Amino acid sequence: MQRKIVVLGTGGTIAGTSSVAGANVGYTAGQIGVQQLLAAIPGLERAAGGVLVAEQVAQLDSKDMDFEVWTRLVQRCTAHLADPLVAGIVITHGTDTLEETAWLLHQLLDASRPVVLTCAMRPATALVPDGPQNLLDAVTLAAHPAARGVLLVAAGRVHGAREVSKVHPLRLDAFESGDTGPLGWVEADRVRWAHGQAPLAAVPTHAALVPALGSAPWPRVEIVLSHAGTDGALVDWAVQGGARGIVVAATGDGTLHHALEAALARAVAAGVQVRVASRCPLGRMRDLPDAPWRGADGLSPVKARVSLLLELLQASMQASI
Ligand code: ASP
Repeated sequence: MQRKIVVLGTGGTIAGTSSVAGANVGYTAGQIGVQQLLAAIPGLERAAGGVLVAEQVAQLDSKDMDFEVWTRLVQRCTAHLADPLVAGIVITHGTDTLEETAWLLHQLLDASRPVVLTCAMRPATALVPDGPQNLLDAVTLAAHPAARGVLLVAAGRVHGAREVSKVHPLRLDAFESGDTGPLGWVEADRVRWAHGQAPLAAVPTHAALVPALGSAPWPRVEIVLSHAGTDGALVDWAVQGGARGIVVAATGDGTLHHALEAALARAVAAGVQVRVASRCPLGRMRDLPDAPWRGADGLSPVKARVSLLLELLQASMQASI
């Protein structure tokens, strides 16, 4: 029996097309099927070192990512990872919410094999599209014997789910891993790890949620920003609207406008979970031992929201047992 690399398509610019020949912008994401994307790349089976299995899980612009697609993606990854012949999974995805999906999968999926997300900044119909090379690199990485856990490859650089974020709206190399830098590089047919070896597999903190995912509604968790002139009204609105969690993108080292802080205290009193993340793109704010809310463990606001969603889901499932 031959080993397999599974490629799951979800849409994005990598599957996008433009009616203007060769255009890099002004296209429609999520148009070309994953099977067709694979067929356009010579040498892909060789890079996989086995058979390639393609499956279309969704076909959307990732700005529109939703809980239904997330649930299906987790379920399909879990089903494929249960097959011992699957050596790795590649997911084609839009760049806009890629870091959120990566962080979600990181906390849910068995990390003993690689799950590699990839994307493109230019549509498939561009004069020089970046998708085919990214997809080839993703298959090379997914087939690497030392690769583990949820990774992202774009523009030849390998990133981990925790640190990666999209930092540029147009540049081909749109992703960075902040202070830590990339985990490695895919160079032609080899993977070069930044610290001489592949990172160890992380234990998925919420794996127990996977079998029940989709059976209970996802909780409402909103993100609010601390900025000059805020009055905290959005927090009150979120609480009235049924939010069970609020992530604050705080200034600097976790500081909050006093009006927002007062609104958050009202939210906590109403039973809402609050997490504070820094809106600074680099570094890591200190913990908040004396505050009535927790820091976000160094996560960006969007990833802190993903973590809080899973925490609340876990709490509601435990409560229903
Ligand atoms: N809006 C697109 C998406 O996220 C952008 C991209 O893929 O680069 O699906």
